[in-house]
Amino acid sequence: MTAQVLPWQGANREHLLGLHQRGQLPHALLLYGLAGTGISRFAAAIAQTLLCDSGAGAPCGKCHSCQLYNAGNHPDLLWLAPEREGGLIKVDQVREVVSFGHASAQQGGYRVVIISPAEAMNANAANSLLKTLEEPGDKTLLLLVSHAAATVLPTVRSRCQQMAMAVPSPAEGKEWLQQHLSDPAHLPLLHAFAPRQPLYGQRLEPLVDDMAAVAESLPALMEGSADVLVTANLWASSEPGLLLQWVYQWLSAACLADLGGERTDSVAARILNAWQRRSTLVQLLDRVDEVVALRRLLASGANPNRQLLLENLALKLSPVVVET
Ligand SMILES: [Zn+2]
Repeated sequence: MTAQVLPWQGANREHLLGLHQRGQLPHALLLYGLAGTGISRFAAAIAQTLLCDSGAGAPCGKCHSCQLYNAGNHPDLLWLAPEREGGLIKVDQVREVVSFGHASAQQGGYRVVIISPAEAMNANAANSLLKTLEEPGDKTLLLLVSHAAATVLPTVRSRCQQMAMAVPSPAEGKEWLQQHLSDPAHLPLLHAFAPRQPLYGQRLEPLVDDMAAVAESLPALMEGSADVLVTANLWASSEPGLLLQWVYQWLSAACLADLGGERTDSVAARILNAWQRRSTLVQLLDRVDEVVALRRLLASGANPNRQLLLENLALKLSPVVVET
């Protein structure tokens, strides 16, 4: 499919095309911003624009280069990503960039490397990229995508020109999501959950039933109208990393709402109401910290007893635990 920038990325595109037209495009760009806002798609659209034979400001979709791109086998595009979601980009994969950098363009134009997400490179992988970042070869562009730019090695960051990517307004996010869901009935929950991360909302659609169950049970638990063990059992049907992500996001939204932020998310509003009846914001923030600690524990590869973890979490969020 022909790659297109997203509606809120117009200014980012104009900026890059302006640099390109003036012959000032850097060798390496770090595109950074919020996950779920389409930064990888932007990188793909820029790559296809540079590779397209038309030389226009957007891919024509018809030329030989665009056909190769759309078939997923353009020889002058190299896309590096972890082999599994959440995994690392390995040093062997980065070595491909080095040999790609030494070859000449097969279609006679630009060559583009996309590394997404750049923070998935470990220190070894990042170090083997440094020389290519400095001297990538003629008409070669490296596009590094990051949702956590602070965790990209400083030696990599300093060799890239950095560009902050636009984040959609909630209204833009809603409009895009509405057009990309298979069932419009899923819009209220997914949009309220991630109003400015519509691509994230779209990715969650297959899990929307599990999410809705947690969205109902979490405030009920905190209001004291749902049992701790019953709730923990219900939560056990979701993948623990995702479950913690949802709980984290709803609790955080409740904290932000208390601090004067938007109160558009009905789940967060219920959580806040339940919590305000019994304790302070500081103690709710403590609960958020505990969820963060559990997420770290899971991400570290530790294999905690899942049932125990969920029961503990549910207990700490329920009114059974009296604040001291
Ligand atoms: Zn084209």
